[in-house]
Amino acid sequence: MISVGEGQAHILAQVTSATSPELVPVAHALGRVLADDLQAPFDVPPADNSAVDGYAVAGEDLPAGGTLTLHVIADLPAGSVFDGVVKPGQAVRIMTGAPMPAGVDTVVPQELVERTGETVKIPTVARGANVRLAGEDVRAGTVVIPSGTVLRPQELGLVASLGFPQVLVRQKVRVAILSTGDEVAEPGEPRQPGQIYDSNRFSLLGLVEEAGGAPTDFGIVPDIRDALKARLLEASRAAEIVLTSGGVSVGIYDLVKDVLGEIGGINFWQVAMQPGRPLAVGHIGGALFFGLPGNPVASMLTFILFVRPALWKLSGRREIFPVQFTAVATEPMRKKSGRREFKRGVLTFGARGWEVRTTGPQGSGILTSMVAANCLIIIEEARGDVKPGEAVLVEPFAW
Ligand code: AMP
Ligand code: MG
Repeated sequence: MISVGEGQAHILAQVTSATSPELVPVAHALGRVLADDLQAPFDVPPADNSAVDGYAVAGEDLPAGGTLTLHVIADLPAGSVFDGVVKPGQAVRIMTGAPMPAGVDTVVPQELVERTGETVKIPTVARGANVRLAGEDVRAGTVVIPSGTVLRPQELGLVASLGFPQVLVRQKVRVAILSTGDEVAEPGEPRQPGQIYDSNRFSLLGLVEEAGGAPTDFGIVPDIRDALKARLLEASRAAEIVLTSGGVSVGIYDLVKDVLGEIGGINFWQVAMQPGRPLAVGHIGGALFFGLPGNPVASMLTFILFVRPALWKLSGRREIFPVQFTAVATEPMRKKSGRREFKRGVLTFGARGWEVRTTGPQGSGILTSMVAANCLIIIEEARGDVKPGEAVLVEPFAW
């Protein structure tokens, strides 16, 4: 028996490189992983500029008290530049974003002034007020987005603001997904007595896509040695990661083991966790291989715990484990010590801060326990039963 942490460490040690970089248009880079530190090629803002609509004046001209009348020598809309020098006793009408002319360092907002013809009466303001300084957002040469960052809308805007039409990101990790088992039927086709419709393949396709990978559907493989071998070889040539579900606990256990032994390598793990105890980890050529358990909750959970961090590391991400925090249990939870248990939870914000309950029956075949949930509840190895009011660790599903 190994612990969840040991299993994760063992898998991550096998991922020693990331996918190759590729240039993609900024507009198509949402969710992609930055492949290199992004440096600012110039200061942002590029020049001192006005933060308000108003009048640009020299600090020396600000009245000590009361008001002072200045001569307005120019009107400066955003995007235009005043190339003269403003002299003592003069002011320039300036719009938000327009570069500050030479000779002035302060902007008096237009609401505070009285304009009459070519003159303006100004009150005093703090010297330097209402001016955004060159480089105050970003200094030329600084790393604005570090390598390994997942690009969100704000990063896309920042990349574009620096003038880049494209951005260097990691190629998506390709993941081939297949289901095994004669009892598994394809949705849309007739279901024979004793058969169930395949659900794992579809949950796994979704999980891969949600994690930023590129899933490929390799269908259902019957429990026939040559068919399994051919499909696995094909999958390993088309992907960095090959996933199967089913067949690692009983049934075709020996088949997967034999075939993998021939075309790659495999270890069968008993992980001290619930659900999802049996797990097969190996390789076929250069592809990582994961044989996930057949029970729908267990296959999703083992993906989240073991496959996703590997996928994220392969895709060059800096953060490969999701956010966890604690919440107050609002109901008792049964727990066997000595293993890590994962319950499906409903996390809400209530009188005691974050509160969590389970979704009800927690069997590893009960997929509706995942559907009703918005988080995993994680109860560590050493703990026993949880009493209401105790804190438990939670990991929200994507929000
Ligand atoms: P196994 O790991 O093959 O022993 O399967 C454990 C349980 O998961 C059995 O009840 C299987 O019928 C079920 N199962 C296996 N593969 C799938 C699948 N692709 N979709 C839904 N359930 C499955
Ligand atoms: Mg099976």
